[in-house]
Amino acid sequence: MKCRRHFFTLTVRVGDRMHKLIHVDGCGETGGGGKLLGGLLQGRQKPVKVNEDKGGLLRGIECFALDMDGTVYLGERWIDGAKDFLEAIERLGKRYVFVTNNSSKSPEVYVEKLGRMGLEAGVDKIITSGQAAIAYLKKHYPGKRVFLLGNDLLKQEFAGEGIYLEEERPEVVVTAFDTTLDYGKMCKVCDFVRGGLPYIATHPDYNCPTEEGFIPDAGAIHAFIHASAGRYPDRVIGKPNGDIIDYLVERTGAAKEKIVMVGDRLYTDIAAGKNNGLKGVLVLSGEASLKDLEESEVRPDLVFASVKEMIPFLG
Ligand SMILES: [Mg+2]
Repeated sequence: MKCRRHFFTLTVRVGDRMHKLIHVDGCGETGGGGKLLGGLLQGRQKPVKVNEDKGGLLRGIECFALDMDGTVYLGERWIDGAKDFLEAIERLGKRYVFVTNNSSKSPEVYVEKLGRMGLEAGVDKIITSGQAAIAYLKKHYPGKRVFLLGNDLLKQEFAGEGIYLEEERPEVVVTAFDTTLDYGKMCKVCDFVRGGLPYIATHPDYNCPTEEGFIPDAGAIHAFIHASAGRYPDRVIGKPNGDIIDYLVERTGAAKEKIVMVGDRLYTDIAAGKNNGLKGVLVLSGEASLKDLEESEVRPDLVFASVKEMIPFLG
């Protein structure tokens, strides 16, 4: 796929926080789009230097929150030097966790995948928007009956964490990246949303990159629901919003100023970090290019060609 993707964000205020819904038009590349390396770019914004950390920002970081696809791997293949980067973090006595918006898979599925790729990482190293949604429900809707539009894996995870799932008389609706959607499920969820129940979404992404191209993600499901029921989610948990970052901070116990969000998407990964008190490092190994950065309002603290180039600056 070669055509460029155009996206814009719709910001809505929900309670104490602004929430972003991402709208994407057209199609796009599935990764490997960041081919512009090094050098200096003169744009509307301040010049951006690549592969530099003059202020020693990375030296002061204790916890690296890493996006996965486009940041450390592409599909089932490590991005060059990514494993060395992970090893370097641990050798220096620092930590990393993977943070993903994808709520169609459980943490165990990621552990298996990383294992297949030769990395032994426990579930403690994985943070998904599904887990962050569970934490949010426990805090804000304790004991409530939840209708979950999601895969069986996610349903098991919710139930295992004590969330009471209910198909007929729910009090809260949660939508996730359900890859087992059918018309009956869509009728149900639209009914509940039309009926005015609190409507929470695990994440806003419109498309999910795969090795074969894009597949429709949670945001596309929200658009369907909106077309029928006239509402977008009241709350969106995943990147670029703050709830997943709150959960990350809680889980890691690290101070916000000691955490950096590293990712290949400006409008989810970097925005999540920068909008919520973390540092943000853009890597050009996945979706975003320097051209995208030039046109973006989201400003990362640092930009690297890939995580490999960050290694000399870690300690
Ligand atoms: Mg990514």
